[in-house]
Amino acid sequence: MNKSWFTIEKINEKTFAISEYGHWEKVHSYLFIGSDKSALIDTGLGIANIKNEIDKLTNQEVIVITTHNHWDHIGGHSLFKEVAVHKNDLEWMEKGLPISVEQIRNTLISKPFTQELPREFNIEKYIPFTGIPQQILKDLDEIDLGNRGLKILHTPGHSPGHICVYEEATGYLATGDLLYKGMLYVFYPSTNPALFAESIEKLCRLPKISKLLPGHYDLNIPVHYLFEARDAFNKLREANQLRQGTGVHEFKCISIRL
Ligand SMILES: [Zn+2]
Ligand SMILES: [Zn+2]
Repeated sequence: MNKSWFTIEKINEKTFAISEYGHWEKVHSYLFIGSDKSALIDTGLGIANIKNEIDKLTNQEVIVITTHNHWDHIGGHSLFKEVAVHKNDLEWMEKGLPISVEQIRNTLISKPFTQELPREFNIEKYIPFTGIPQQILKDLDEIDLGNRGLKILHTPGHSPGHICVYEEATGYLATGDLLYKGMLYVFYPSTNPALFAESIEKLCRLPKISKLLPGHYDLNIPVHYLFEARDAFNKLREANQLRQGTGVHEFKCISIRL
């Protein structure tokens, strides 16, 4: 029998990670189930149908919250009726990313898959999502799921409209591509080192963080990574290295490419 493309891991009774370990980017999306409604944070690569997995976990209405409009986080957006994105990534969502479909397809298949691909997947037909979102997000917006509230934190730097999603009650923090275990890429033209550092600093000021929920790679990363990232960016700033073109900087657990 075909193993499912997605791996579902339970974070608590009402929170799940939906991961794509068969792809080299090891993308994670997250489902938060409230008493009235659910939120899906990102929709993955679009290699398999993520909605089929979500339907097994909840029959509630689902709002898709986009951490940022990169192709590897919006793959299943077209499968959902309600999509939200920060206004600064809106143009990419509506008109597409400023890179070609060919480039995206080449990146998608640039390293071997480690899991059998779903039969319906065809790289020749892979088109990144574009569409009109139903909701535009801004900093400090609250998403009410019924007995469960999520706070939107605008955290630009990886992309102009990057957001993190914070649940104060549990201390869960979905960090998207602002923080994961692996090299942080801040050298792309659309990234911004100063804003990236500020956004990390902003997350460090949150009252309580019990768990980081990263957009890629290891699912379980210790909370101290966040504080190490802050210290790393501070050191780079002090050394006048916090600018693009200064190369790869290695710290104890964190590395940053500028
Ligand atoms: Zn990204
Ligand atoms: Zn990503």
